[in-house]
Amino acid sequence: MTHKIINAISSRNVPCWGSRKKYIAVHYLGVAGQAHDLASDGCGAHFYIYWNGTIYQRCSLDAVPWAVGTAGYYTQKHPEARNSNTISIEMCCKCDGNAASAEDKRWYFTKETQEACAWLVAKLRHEQGIPSTNVLRHYDIVNKTCPAPYVHNNGYKTSWTWTTFKQRAEEYFSAEQKRELKPGMKVKLTQDIALRDSVSTKPQQAGYVKYTQLSASAKKKCRRLSGNKAKLKKGGVVEIKKAVTAWDGSIWVQIKSGWLPAVVKGKYRVKAVL
Ligand SMILES: [Zn+2]
Repeated sequence: MTHKIINAISSRNVPCWGSRKKYIAVHYLGVAGQAHDLASDGCGAHFYIYWNGTIYQRCSLDAVPWAVGTAGYYTQKHPEARNSNTISIEMCCKCDGNAASAEDKRWYFTKETQEACAWLVAKLRHEQGIPSTNVLRHYDIVNKTCPAPYVHNNGYKTSWTWTTFKQRAEEYFSAEQKRELKPGMKVKLTQDIALRDSVSTKPQQAGYVKYTQLSASAKKKCRRLSGNKAKLKKGGVVEIKKAVTAWDGSIWVQIKSGWLPAVVKGKYRVKAVL
């Protein structure tokens, strides 16, 4: 299942800007209700997900809303995750108990909100090259009880546990990857990639395609490196003949002139041409 993202992007109340995003933080709204706006003081998130799974994007990804900082009150736990390098997602929630207290054990998420959030996390990881280990609860960054259902982690009503959430996001992520690179698909390089003559295995690194053996048309798309290696230039479009996952999880694609390590450490070096 895929979900739609409703564009509610606005720069209003965005306190700061920065484009280096390495982490994803999951939050609960903290009130039993639904909303998708930044507060006038800049507090909020990039995305908000309603009870029925509707996703709103309130901020562009280069916005830095106040979301995971200490606010001069909480204690920083994470060594690196900060407002400036983190994409935040607010999950709207419900509470059967005292909604004035994060410590109440009866906060919960609907299944729809969780499914949509797991899907969104996978999509963002895929597009931004963010590893699974960098998907955090707000609670993992500072000592705030957020998102309460995944901090209490008691599976109240329809709430999953944090482990279940991460597993579901991982399932969406592998589905996204499989969908992405397949034979017949045309992709554009988002960086220079050296052409290899095969796929690296654990005992043996693949060799390089020799520049002087390339066809004239292939040479035009390449740069010649020392040692007669050929590097396919960023922006070049190639057609995938075959896609394989190597021993280390990297994804290699075969093209007319050789092999390319297209996804390394979860980071995509190509994108589909639509
Ligand atoms: Zn939070």
